[in-house]
Amino acid sequence: MRIITHTCPACGTVVAANELESNRVMKCPGLACQEVLRFKDLSADAREHFLDHRERYQM
Ligand SMILES: [Zn+2]
Repeated sequence: MRIITHTCPACGTVVAANELESNRVMKCPGLACQEVLRFKDLSADAREHFLDHRERYQM
């Protein structure tokens, strides 16, 4: 299974796509990082793949 993640541009923290998808907009989980991460920050290709196979990404 393809792993889809988003890397925070400010601190480099890696967030799983399913976390972004469930929250849509979330504050970066990185310590002391105020960056806001959005599902739409994922590339269109990654979003499409994730949504097509969403059930496989449920934890
Ligand atoms: Zn961050």
